[in-house]
Amino acid sequence: MNVTIRRWTNGVGIGLIHIAALAAFIPGMTHWSSVAVAFVLLWVTGGLGINLCYHRVLTHRSVRLLKPVEYILATIGTLSLQGDPVRWVAIHRKHHAYADREGDPHGRDRGFLWSHMDWLYKPNDALENEEELVRYVPDMANDRYYRALPYLQWAAHFALAGLLFAFGGWSWIVWGIFVRLVVSYHVTWFVNSAAHSLGYRTYVTRDLSTNCWWVALLAWGEGWHNNHHAFPYSARHGLKWFEVDPTWWSVQTLKFLRLADSIKLPPRAALQRKPVPVPIPVPVATTRQQPSRGY
Ligand SMILES: [Zn+2]
Ligand SMILES: [Zn+2]
Repeated sequence: MNVTIRRWTNGVGIGLIHIAALAAFIPGMTHWSSVAVAFVLLWVTGGLGINLCYHRVLTHRSVRLLKPVEYILATIGTLSLQGDPVRWVAIHRKHHAYADREGDPHGRDRGFLWSHMDWLYKPNDALENEEELVRYVPDMANDRYYRALPYLQWAAHFALAGLLFAFGGWSWIVWGIFVRLVVSYHVTWFVNSAAHSLGYRTYVTRDLSTNCWWVALLAWGEGWHNNHHAFPYSARHGLKWFEVDPTWWSVQTLKFLRLADSIKLPPRAALQRKPVPVPIPVPVATTRQQPSRGY
């Protein structure tokens, strides 16, 4: 898709989804069942689809899933309307390669709001070159299922909407689709903004990443983001006993069920290192630098 059109559709789509979510305030549109459905779908589509599959499995290959399970979870991930996995993985790998420097698609060095959501619909140099993005996904670009998924995802979403309407009417549609999407968007975006701004830094990294407890709670463990930038290959992001990481529990459950293997973790010596207070670097304007190959 043309870059300018994509920027427009992103902006209009995000705006319309936020407006549609306001329907939750219409009297009679909110029930305990609709809130419960939204919460369960938030975990399944965001926690399992995006955090586990898109991020830890596909982007960083920190755990390997049985192929059909990987495809199912990737398809479920598309229900978060964050784009197809190939493009999502390419953008996220580029984020790790240039984190918070020129070239980062959502670098925190360009401001909180830019890293949160402005990068999606404003002119963005780091996303202008679509061919360049393909270089980041040599392991996925030729996978026939992932190439078809951008088209299949709409069928999946309409099927979900049909089921929600059949079982719960409009209130399940409003909560299960629109409210869920708004919450899911901002939770994911907080990983790029708040978890590159607020919290503590256990490890010295070349970026602004932080461990932010409330982002971790909202995003099923993804807020332990300084740990993640220090050890991008690790299937476990919460590395201290108090760093709660529900996505890691999902990995362990799938391993127990013999659906996951090849789980990567940081070396024991790194985990036993005492946390030291590391200041959060101040964002500065930077010149183009070589990417790191840390992902
Ligand atoms: Zn990051
Ligand atoms: Zn990552």
